Amino acid sequence: MKAATAPAFDRRHFDCPHCGALAEQVWLNAYAAPIANAEGLPLRIAGAGLEQLRHNPQYPPEVRERKVAYWERVNGGAVFLDRWTPVETDLFVAGMELSVCRTCFGTAVWLGGRMIYPN
Ligand SMILES: [Zn+2]
Repeated sequence: MKAATAPAFDRRHFDCPHCGALAEQVWLNAYAAPIANAEGLPLRIAGAGLEQLRHNPQYPPEVRERKVAYWERVNGGAVFLDRWTPVETDLFVAGMELSVCRTCFGTAVWLGGRMIYPN
């Protein structure tokens, strides 16, 4: 039997899988929007592209560092909330929810009521 504070789909407080604290979790529904770039493919900046970004004089150093850190997190498989362009959509992702820790803002992904990220 699971501990009373283990992460669970029917709890608003549980041991955060990121920071380990017994913390309040905010549950979020997921919505989807079509990828709108010219290729119609998910965007990733890695390898040579990431090196180019790392040395791109178009951005001030702190902006470059923030962008590189973002892509390194994404490329490392992290799932997290980020502000992007506002979208309007009615595509609801049924069967998938997110929980976000109020203490560390770590995001967990739940499919079919089971936490699949982080594992
Ligand atoms: Zn946490």
